[in-house]
Amino acid sequence: MNMIVKKFPTTAFIDGEWISSAKTFAVTDPATGAEVAAVPDLGAEDARRAIDAASRALPDWSAKTAKERAAILRRWFDLVTAETDSLAQLMTTEQGKPIAEARAEVAYGASFIEWFAEEGKRAYGRTIPTTAASKRYITIKQPIGVVAAIAPWNFPVAMITRKVAPALASGCTIVVKPAAETPLCALALAKLAADAGLPPGVLNIVTTTDAPAIGKVFCEDARVRKLSFTGSTEVGKILYRQCADTVKKLTLELGGNAPLLVFDDADLDQAVAGAMASKYRTAGQTCVCANRILVQSGIYDRFAAAMVERVNDLAVGPGLETGNAVGPLISGEAIDKVETLVADAVKKGAKVLTGGEVAPAGPLFYRPSVVGDVTSDMSIVREEIFGPVAALVRFETEADAIALANDTPFGLAAYLFSRDVSRAWRVAEKLDAGMVGINEGIFSNEVVPFGGVKESGLGREGGAEGLEEYLEVKYICLGAI
Ligand code: ADP
Repeated sequence: MNMIVKKFPTTAFIDGEWISSAKTFAVTDPATGAEVAAVPDLGAEDARRAIDAASRALPDWSAKTAKERAAILRRWFDLVTAETDSLAQLMTTEQGKPIAEARAEVAYGASFIEWFAEEGKRAYGRTIPTTAASKRYITIKQPIGVVAAIAPWNFPVAMITRKVAPALASGCTIVVKPAAETPLCALALAKLAADAGLPPGVLNIVTTTDAPAIGKVFCEDARVRKLSFTGSTEVGKILYRQCADTVKKLTLELGGNAPLLVFDDADLDQAVAGAMASKYRTAGQTCVCANRILVQSGIYDRFAAAMVERVNDLAVGPGLETGNAVGPLISGEAIDKVETLVADAVKKGAKVLTGGEVAPAGPLFYRPSVVGDVTSDMSIVREEIFGPVAALVRFETEADAIALANDTPFGLAAYLFSRDVSRAWRVAEKLDAGMVGINEGIFSNEVVPFGGVKESGLGREGGAEGLEEYLEVKYICLGAI
């Protein structure tokens, strides 16, 4: 075990106890393929025990004032922030992203704890003007109850805190199943939460390779009143169906197929910078990564040339070595998928402008690539690439761009680059997306609502909206006045 992995727990966390198990699974470093830890491979029974613990902890935790909960969350934020370097190293070790990005993610992840600690104090209800002289109407907001969360591997810290912080701030207790690829950051966060004084059972982490079994327990247990999931649309649909019988509240952050529109009147440097930031972060493995770069014909050649120049400057290699801008993909399957998509595009007439192959750094490294002359019949613009490949599609008119952009069952993020304010506003309104970046490739933070429309999901995380997801409205009528 390397030093950084030793610093934090590698066992599961249920009811304030660190839980080992005879059955374990390996966590590997995608840059080297080396095993870095063995983590308990828990089953359905353990998930039920975690829900028992969260249920037992709920009455006391929800009875605390928001201010009392905020004090604990604030301590957690401080501890996470103090451990930024260690958490970042741990993240790069299990996830692969460049260390500078990992540090930025720790800050981003911690910001949800800081924000929701305070936002929890503002769970306001309403007084509603009466329709009868003898009655008064009031609403109050109450925590929904026990929450279950299922997280992905691409943001091992932020996807945990974006769910846990609002749940805890609002008075809910929670059971989290991190991705099997990246359980170590979740366990480290739990350790820091316990150090901050979080009572036993309020936060539980169930590590497993049997996600379907644990997911089923989460969905079918009537005590779990809400499920928050970030992952693929395919799995999101399974969970949506499984939650029907207990009529659970759901937040689903699912797949995207983000269009990035570059109009002839765009500032070229801004458009290239935005596309680079949106495309190559986490080696292209984010749900808001520009998946289709739609470029108007008058600027297409200049944009393509500028992208190739910038992409050729990206250093590819292990994330722990400073200076590398693109790390490994998460798995061999991820590499296979990217190779298949590029091959399909090339077969149908697309041109590889740079990259288009596995990088010399190792079997999970893919060269940052730009593929031009992409058309809408190619799988590369129909499916999520989840790799460092920019697919450039040419368009002629604004109407064509909007039609192309919306021609997908997904609707998470969209980006557009134009110096014409009227056009930017008009197009932003017409894009089927939960989030639109205008002349900006990076827009997520703790104070704004993150989420999608269509098959990209339900609900929002972050911002004031993110707290509402964990609250129920109770209407109280006071009569006989
Ligand atoms: P990705 O392709 O990005 O890994 P997934 O949707 O497969 O996306 O995974 C996201 C999360 O969902 C992970 O924690 C994974 O373990 C979990 N997961 C996968 N399949 C299921 C399932 N059938 N039920 C519940 N969770 C699942």
